[in-house]
Amino acid sequence: MVEMGTAQADIGVIGGSGFYSFLEDVTEVTVKTPYGSPSDSLFIGELAGRKVAFLPRHGRGHHLPPHRINYRANLWALRSIGVRQVLGPCAVGGLRPEYGPGTLLVPDQLVDRTKNRTQTFFDGEPLPDGSVPDVVHTTFADPYCPAGRAVALAVARGHGWDPVDGGTMVVIEGPRFSTRAESRWHAAQGWSVVGMTGHPEAVLARELGLCYTSMSLVTDLDAGAETGDGVSHDEVMRVFGENVGRLREVLFAAVCALPETAERACLCAT
Ligand SMILES: [Zn+2]
Repeated sequence: MVEMGTAQADIGVIGGSGFYSFLEDVTEVTVKTPYGSPSDSLFIGELAGRKVAFLPRHGRGHHLPPHRINYRANLWALRSIGVRQVLGPCAVGGLRPEYGPGTLLVPDQLVDRTKNRTQTFFDGEPLPDGSVPDVVHTTFADPYCPAGRAVALAVARGHGWDPVDGGTMVVIEGPRFSTRAESRWHAAQGWSVVGMTGHPEAVLARELGLCYTSMSLVTDLDAGAETGDGVSHDEVMRVFGENVGRLREVLFAAVCALPETAERACLCAT
């Protein structure tokens, strides 16, 4: 373990240990933030010359439920070591029968149905530098980085996946899954997938000027879209485990294909 400052990365991946445990020469870095501790240490490695920091969203033992994750600390920690582009792989439920287990969807829209999460760095309190900014309203019409989305889709196709290009992720508070009525309502709105961690991760990244790209792996059909007993945690973990190798390959390829940070042409940083 090393102290912060001796290792840097410009790409961050918020996802489980299944992604970085295969890397050689991973450096574990503990980071303290003005917002408390992130979910875990950062694990920094190198992929084809790109320095990438992995952060287990739920902690390495998967002990943090979605509503207890310190999203502000997670994003702040990544930015503090130099990260400017973030990939956020996550497990979601499909809201349409055609989005069955194993579907990879790269959403372009998000609906926030969370209830009790701090979702801004600009809450009227002094910032870590002591300044108190005027009221800030972040532009969020398009919540995801267009360049990151294009890369994710291209590399997935290059790995024999047929990803869904676009769609709306509705993020619920959890940790329970939706009722059938809630799920049918989500589907009736035309929304595509349902998750528990995509918000406020995306908006906090935007507030810090980071590119953020969601890569959503469908692990089950949500309660309103299936005809069985409903979603179970065991089923989610099983399908995720079956697909984690393939998702890791796509993720690693995406890391290597992202634009150099200095050459970002998107508007995320502004
Ligand atoms: Zn961007």
